[in-house]
Formats: sequence, structure tokens, C-alpha cells
Amino acid sequence: LFVLSERQCDLQAKAKTIADTTAGRRAAETDRSEQYPQDVVSALTSAGLMGMSVPKELGGPGASYFDVTLVIEELAAKCGVSGRIVVEGNMGGVGAILAYGTPDQRASAAQHVLGGDKPAICITEPDAGSAATEMTTTATRRGDTWVLNGKKHWITGGGVSKLHLIFARVIEGGEFKGIGGFMAYLGEDGLVIGKREPTLGLRGIPETEVIFDNLRLPLDRLITPPEGIKRGFAGLMDAYNAQRVGAATVALGIARGAYEEAVSFIKRREQFGRPLAEFQGLQWMIADMAIQIDAARLMIWRAAASAEYQSSGFPDPMLAAQAKVFASEMAVKVTNDALQLHGARGYSRNNNVERMLRDARMFTIGGGTAQMLRNLVAGKALDMKTPQTRGGYLSQETCN
Ligand code: FAD
Repeated sequence: LFVLSERQCDLQAKAKTIADTTAGRRAAETDRSEQYPQDVVSALTSAGLMGMSVPKELGGPGASYFDVTLVIEELAAKCGVSGRIVVEGNMGGVGAILAYGTPDQRASAAQHVLGGDKPAICITEPDAGSAATEMTTTATRRGDTWVLNGKKHWITGGGVSKLHLIFARVIEGGEFKGIGGFMAYLGEDGLVIGKREPTLGLRGIPETEVIFDNLRLPLDRLITPPEGIKRGFAGLMDAYNAQRVGAATVALGIARGAYEEAVSFIKRREQFGRPLAEFQGLQWMIADMAIQIDAARLMIWRAAASAEYQSSGFPDPMLAAQAKVFASEMAVKVTNDALQLHGARGYSRNNNVERMLRDARMFTIGGGTAQMLRNLVAGKALDMKTPQTRGGYLSQETCN
């Protein structure tokens, strides 16, 4: 059973205040203007909600991932974009660097997020989406520098994020050593922000190409997970489990926000001489929405809390995958039902639920699709490897 402490309730209340004021009031305008909401970021930074997960020795409050989910849900209930900014200001790229970085690397990442930066994590490429390990971006060692070449796309925060964690194939002495993560900063020569993608939802954060055109980085920009570069991708993806829980929580928050709008609307709106809330068919829709939201929250809390007992310090991969699949699909359904309950009014761009439905749609795709996460869950459930390449099962047989 989860019982929130007084400190956690205070944290939730602090996030709710920003959600009800700066972030919430601006949400429709953020969507319309497609501008990164710098004023919301300033409010989040002043309130200490960026870099919450930074440990005390690096100047942060050392909050747990569980604490971070409490904040994300409140913000996303009013503004999905703000929720996502808090995810990346505490999880994902920064989590990997804080876990595996050298003292200097950790200090730099801490300084960035505590100062309000939402780091960008650069994995996906045009020809390597779900098959992420097929990425072709290379980091080639030339003397005392790494030279990066390649192209990523769908990078959240392209052009606004200062710190980047770039996944690339490490080539040393002409040999492929594994996939490593490299820290780079906006404005460095050779780090080029490409075209912006026009998106369905979450329009306040740019999704762009990020191109590496002979990007030269000092040797100390490479992040090496404990298992070494050979298993670098697996180590870096371990850290990504926190981001998955964060993404699931944004979906949860958006769904809750839409549900609350629907509850309020059907109590106000009258047809056939009585409030819509008196029609049993609609009551059951509300009941199903409430049940699904609650189930998603419990799965998310369990996944977030699992980080406390994992040796990696990150959420359990299976629990994180289950939570993200469930919460993301739940959010699509709940926001869609919330729109339905509003009738034509819900279909108007003047109504919050229209934005919420669009914002919710992305979470079955970004950060590991619902299908790829089901592959992960199936592998654990069946206790067998589930290779996705055509020859994958055959080569396993050969190994046996
Ligand atoms: P594909 O891999 O081409 O998949 C297409 C479809 O086929 C999907 O439905 C997929 O589930 C399915 N599919 C593919 N392979 C299998 C399989 N083996 N089994 C079953 N189904 C399969 N990436 C980053 O690196 N950094 C970011 O910051 C980032 N932000 C994003 C933000 C948004 C809003 C979005 C939409 C994406 C973002 N991404 C980011 C990219 C995201 O991680 C990829 O879109 C995702 O991994 C899927 O890759 P793809 O789009 O190339 O789809």
C-alpha cells in the first residue's frame, strides 16, 4: 500500500500550484504558439522541480523517482508539455550521466538540470527506430578527440536543450567497441539542429533532427556504464527505464486532467431536462475511466518505487514496461472518452480535451513503442530471448 508522507504531499501541492497557475493557464497558448514555455521552466526551476533527482552531494535535493512521478502527474494533468519537461529534467539522459558519469560529468549534468535545462537524449535515427542498435552514428577516436558523424531524428528539445546525451557506435583503432553515450552541448561546432517535425500534440517542445557533422569532443565526454562499452547500450538503456516511468506518468496525468474535465462537464450540462451525469451509460464510462486511471497510477508507483531495491538504482525494466504500455494505452482511451462526453464542444480547439487527446497519443510510440515493450514483457513472461531479427532464433539454436 502506498501512503504518501507529509513531505510528498507538500511536493504534490507545490507542483499543483504551478499546474493551476503558470503551466495550466499557459497550456492552450503553448499548444497554439508551439513555443517552448520558458516562463513555466523558470517557475519549475525556482520551485526546485528541475533536478529534483540530483543527489545532495551535487547540490540537489536527492528526491526519489517516486517523488518525481508525484510532480509529473500534477503538472501533466494541466499541461502535458510541462510534465514532459520535468521528466527530462530528472530522468532519462540526466539519470544515465548521474549514475555512470565521472565526477566532472556528473557535476555538469547536475548544474544543467538544476539551472532549468531539459537535456536531450539522442538515440533514434531515420533507419534505426525500434531497432535502435542498428544506429549508424559513429564516434571515432582520433588521438585525444572523439569525432562524431551521423543523424538523429525525433529528438525532443532539439534547439532548446543545452545538454545532449548522444548514443553512437564507438570506433577505436578501427574496431567497433560497442554503443556509448557522449555528452555534447548546444552551440558546439558540428552539432547541428536540423528540421523541426510538425507534430500532432505536445507542440510546445520541438522534435527535431540533430546532425553530427564532424562533431569533435574531448575524450572525457564518453559515458561508460559499469559493464563497459561492449555492453554500453544495455547499461544506458537501464537508465532509460526511469524515463519510461516518467513518460507513463505524463500519460497518466493527461488522462486524469481529461477525466476531471469530463466529470465537471457532465455534472453541468443538461439534456432531456436533467444533468448528463444522471445517465447510467455515461456513469459507467466515468467509472471505467476512474478504474483505469487508478490502475495505471498503481502500476507507475510500483515501477517507480522498484528503483529503490534495484542494484542499478533504476526502475525494474519489466515493471517500467508494463506501466508504460498500460498507462499510454489507457490515456488514449480515457482522453478519447472525455472528448466523447463533451459532445461537439469536446471537438473544438477551444476545449482542453481536444488538446489532451492529441497530447496523449504520443506515449504508445516515443520511448519504446507499445509493441516493442510487449516484446520485452513477453520475453520475461516466457523466460526466453525474443530476438526480432529474421535470423535471431536460428542463431540461438546454433549457439545451443
Ligand atoms: P518503427 O521502428 O519504424 O516502427 C513502426 C511500427 O512498427 C511501430 O508501431 C512499432 O511498434 C512496430 N514495430 C517495429 N518493430 C517491431 C517488432 N519487432 N515487433 C512488433 N512491432 C514492431 N527518440 C530519441 O532518441 N530521442 C527522443 O527524445 C525522442 N523523442 C520522441 C518524441 C516523440 C513525440 C516521438 C513520437 C518519438 C520520439 N523519439 C525519440 C523516437 C521514438 O523513440 C521512436 O519513434 C520509436 O522508438 C519507434 O521508432 P520508429 O518511429 O522509427 O518506428
